Amino acid sequence: MFFSFSLGAQDHVPGELIVKMKESRAQGSSRFLGKAAINQKMSLKRSWKRHNIYQFQLKPGVSVEQAINDLHFDDDVEYAEPNYILRKQSTGIEGGPKSLAEIAAENESLQIDSFASDSFAQTNADIRAEEAWGILALNPDKPIVAVIDSGVDYNHYVFQESGALWSNTGEIPNNSIDDDGNGFVDDVYGWNFVNNSNDPMDDDNHGTHVAGIVLGMTQDILRNPGDVSPAKIQIMPLKFLDHNGSGTTASAIEAINYAIDNGASVLNNSWGGGHYSQALYDVIVQSHNKGLAFIAAAGNAANNNDTSPTYPASYKISNVVSVAATSSQDNLASFSNFGSQSVHVASPGISIISTLPNDSFGYSSGTSMAAPFAAGLSALLVREKNQINGHQVKGVLFEYSLGVQDLLGKVASQSRIDAFEAVNFVQNTDIASYVPNSSADRWVSNVDAPETSSQAGGCGLISTKLLQKSLQKPFDGSGGSSGGTTAALLALLLAPLLVINILKLRVKIKPEYRRAYPRMNIQSEVSIAVGDQKLIGQMSSISLGGARIDTEALLEQGGVVTLCVASPVGDKHFEVQGQIVWCEEKKAYGVKFAEAQKEAQDLVSLWSSRLAKKSS
Ligand code: CA
Repeated sequence: MFFSFSLGAQDHVPGELIVKMKESRAQGSSRFLGKAAINQKMSLKRSWKRHNIYQFQLKPGVSVEQAINDLHFDDDVEYAEPNYILRKQSTGIEGGPKSLAEIAAENESLQIDSFASDSFAQTNADIRAEEAWGILALNPDKPIVAVIDSGVDYNHYVFQESGALWSNTGEIPNNSIDDDGNGFVDDVYGWNFVNNSNDPMDDDNHGTHVAGIVLGMTQDILRNPGDVSPAKIQIMPLKFLDHNGSGTTASAIEAINYAIDNGASVLNNSWGGGHYSQALYDVIVQSHNKGLAFIAAAGNAANNNDTSPTYPASYKISNVVSVAATSSQDNLASFSNFGSQSVHVASPGISIISTLPNDSFGYSSGTSMAAPFAAGLSALLVREKNQINGHQVKGVLFEYSLGVQDLLGKVASQSRIDAFEAVNFVQNTDIASYVPNSSADRWVSNVDAPETSSQAGGCGLISTKLLQKSLQKPFDGSGGSSGGTTAALLALLLAPLLVINILKLRVKIKPEYRRAYPRMNIQSEVSIAVGDQKLIGQMSSISLGGARIDTEALLEQGGVVTLCVASPVGDKHFEVQGQIVWCEEKKAYGVKFAEAQKEAQDLVSLWSSRLAKKSS
């Protein structure tokens, strides 16, 4: 047996190894570590005994390749690998740090002087953040997002005033005692794994920018000092990237372990590298088994991750969400990695405005910026239903998002995140019985189910199947009115959630509609009939399931309306009944269609293709 191994010069830490012992040999770890052959060539640097993983420093003159080859023949060793180098996934700060006033002056469309109401302005992409904020539960829960990065400037007024920073309540500050016994002394605000201290201050700027995006997904962060709202989530700064934005696999493993052990629900990972590390894989599986969501930047090399994987984004673990970057017009960013199988969803990642050290702000681009929008949204989902697990979070981000023409064949969900769609779904769903569409993780290898997961079943599922049968006919294209559409209308009025499930199941019948609600941006006129009243509005987005109507007229939430929708160029119309399911007063309403008829489906598809052609 011969094991061949070669390395590039810049992709691992010289003279360091990560070694995992076989589980069956765990009892003999002292025997393994005491082996003469090992001691002659390497010394123990760190250990994660719970995982049977050890980090070694090689003695002078011993190469990483040689040591790995030697250990390959050791019966006690499951694997040995280099300590790979991992890097931030952003292009740096565009135009340098600025004050909020400078940013506002540059981009009047931000309207950040209108402090009267919360507004979302970190990107012009319509990820429907404000609409999601408008329906959030009144909930004291503040899920923890671990920002595994270059640290966070925790003195920035946005983090200070919002109270967004996690603090370890089990630790008494500065008493030089590990009060909570978690293995870290005085770890009050997270940890610095670069210099092994309790100070996760950002000495790059990447982590502060990323943390601002996570927080900014949950509230308006572009506010003047004195005007920042209390946070709905917590940011746990875990610094493992150094002042150049580089870190190691060993430090990443430590940071992920810390996040798992100290209560994080969501892990943001705006970093990556080209090499597969089994040790990193193993710790992410641990995060999966604990029910956490692991959000990862897909990478900025314009690569196809299906054929050129990058890690951690490309690990086939069902809580890993690989996030591509899109422009504010929802086109895939030119730098963004993609992968019709292995990249799951897209999120804005070009010229994103966020916090920078020293109370400043600035623009940055990269999948590093895309991932934290998804992470912040994940935290909102956990806040709505704290029993949701990472696999389910991934399913929601995948399924309840906006279908985008430019992501066809590039991203598995063909979609960009949609905060309202995702929060609205989770809010109205019995999470215990929610099983993500298998297409969200059909490429995932078998890993154990999360501890918090539960199996689907019960009467809801059975009813859905029965109703699905009666709905099959109209969806097959026979058109017209039928018992099926009547059943759909009844089901809508009686149990809106069932209809969502029915549509999902129907979607599976026809592959091109495999998502429940591919939503397209549209600008067209719509007349709204409420009883005898006729009103005029603008439609700004549409899907087979519903539409967003912008009108200053006052409509009642829950009310039934008839819409007469005009095509963008006004040449075609169709009528559809719907129910107002959300509203922003004097601004916008969400209408859920009572039925998606063949005619409407065809028109929406046609308009969508026109719109896509227009934008590309
Ligand atoms: Ca501690």
